[in-house]
Amino acid sequence: MTLKPRITNRKQISGTYIRIIKMALKQKLHLVFGVITIFGAAGFQLWIPILLGSSVDIAMDVFSAENADVSDQLIFSGVLLLISSIMRGIFTMAYNYSGESIGQHIGYELRLLYYQKLQKLSFSYHSHIHTGDLITRGILDIEGVSMFVRTAVLRSIYLVVLIGTGTYLVLSTDLVLGILSLSFVPLAGWRATAARLQLRSSWFALQEKLSILSKVMDENLGGIRVVRSFASKTHEMDKFDRASEEALTIANDQVQVKSKNVSLIGISFLAAMGLVLWVGGLKVINGSITIGELTTFLAFMSILQAPVRMLGMMVNAFARGAASGGRLFSVLDMSSDIEDSQGSTNLTITKGVLKFKDVHFGYEGEHTLNGVTFEAKPGHAVGIVGPPGSGKSTIAHLIPRFYDPSSGAITIDGQNIKDVTLDSLRHSVSVVEQDSFMFTASIDHNVAYGNPWAEDLDVETATRNTQMYQYISRLPNKFSTMIGERGVSLSGGQRQRLSIARSILLNPKIIIFDDSTSSVDAATEQKIRVALQEISKDRTSIIISHRLSSLMHADEILFIEKGKIIERGNHNKLINNNGKYAELYKLQIRPDDKNKSEKIKNER
Ligand code: ADP
Repeated sequence: MTLKPRITNRKQISGTYIRIIKMALKQKLHLVFGVITIFGAAGFQLWIPILLGSSVDIAMDVFSAENADVSDQLIFSGVLLLISSIMRGIFTMAYNYSGESIGQHIGYELRLLYYQKLQKLSFSYHSHIHTGDLITRGILDIEGVSMFVRTAVLRSIYLVVLIGTGTYLVLSTDLVLGILSLSFVPLAGWRATAARLQLRSSWFALQEKLSILSKVMDENLGGIRVVRSFASKTHEMDKFDRASEEALTIANDQVQVKSKNVSLIGISFLAAMGLVLWVGGLKVINGSITIGELTTFLAFMSILQAPVRMLGMMVNAFARGAASGGRLFSVLDMSSDIEDSQGSTNLTITKGVLKFKDVHFGYEGEHTLNGVTFEAKPGHAVGIVGPPGSGKSTIAHLIPRFYDPSSGAITIDGQNIKDVTLDSLRHSVSVVEQDSFMFTASIDHNVAYGNPWAEDLDVETATRNTQMYQYISRLPNKFSTMIGERGVSLSGGQRQRLSIARSILLNPKIIIFDDSTSSVDAATEQKIRVALQEISKDRTSIIISHRLSSLMHADEILFIEKGKIIERGNHNKLINNNGKYAELYKLQIRPDDKNKSEKIKNER
């Protein structure tokens, strides 16, 4: 993945800023409060050098002793200085608070929008983009936009007010001294900005190296058994070491850029101060300005130093805001190819008859399904078998509309699934996948994932039907046992059984088992099948499997090859056909299974 900003178009950049500012404008109260406090903070900040100058002049009067009230005036000036410092602190804190608050609100809003979008984007989008990239993009880019708002939006108003008014004040007091005291600004501003931009591009390089490091570490830990069993520890260490060394080189370069520029800024500031002292000193000697006025210039320079250094930070925040915002909005604006169509209505299930009518489909132009037609109805199980890659799972994924067919139609009780709402469709259809994902949560939470309000008894029954109850009841914490990294680790078959329980708990009218018992042993699978046959009486079920024993009992079996149904019928008919199914049967079924299948034949 590349983290480098991709937007270069000016129009796009200004569009991104406008969108962020519009989001910030929603926080009206914080914004108004922030702008008012900015003027307060800048006003008191600028008053400090003026007060310092007049205090020095008053103090000089002490020596001339012409004015008896001088010490009172000095104390008064000191008090004013103290008050203005405190007020400046309070106002600065207040506008920083407003900026932070607006930035955090925007971060919160973007996080929700981004997460919502990822939930809606189609599977074809998700299969193209690395999950890690989506997470990194989410975290880094949302932070980039939020940081832009927090550090740049209000602060740029503050800097304009402070530097603008300050410049006017010093130039109008004494043009020559004013120019001298501002002489460090161009060099310092340039270096601060250039350094930040340099650091910014090396920041991207560093992030990419760190991302490689975390990928290496992640793969290493995820595949620790493979690494150890292939004795590849040294090779893995070398890979990690190389990426780590490159990251160190970039980090060292960054230190150099920082220290070189900090020194340059310091030198230019001190040189300007020396000039002000020299020329200002001469002016004091010839009486054109007072010592207090010279002090004002020097104090003003010190105050101006921080905002000038801040310019670099601002430029960085603007650049990062545009790049992060651009990338983020490009995801947020993406339309999903799978959405509710206009005027879609809720699916009304009367019987639960599912029909595929001449369905064609392909991923990226490939012909994966070529005219698939079949019908599945309640109490009439359909089995789908065929070689790997023939399109079995693809059929399963078209039913809940993970993808849409390129032609043909899929209907449920006569309603085209494209014309019903996704929510109602997905509530009626459940696909139990081979790869059963479990959340890091307790067993009951995992089983009741689709219906968190399910009764304990229903959760228990679902696990009884999938032959998991006995195992769970032997665990010390039973249904409250945690699964996942910090909990018990389940075998592949156990996960599949919990996954089936999760689906049947939802009582879907149409249920598709996509190789969902592939890791379960044959005896347990047989028990599950008996339980499911009972449950499936009034449901439409499709069983996809590469194992014939899982679907021999189906009322209709479809043998699929290269996206086409090449044989169909029940087990007996297909065996009598002596085609591909019969061939597979001979290959797969062992003598003891044969006895079982004879039993199935006799039961019919
Ligand atoms: P089966 O379930 O029969 O093993 P699939 O339906 O999973 O087959 O896959 C059918 C074909 O489609 C295969 O060639 C597979 O590589 C391809 N395929 C599956 N999923 C995707 C995807 N998300 N993107 C692109 N091609 C895919």
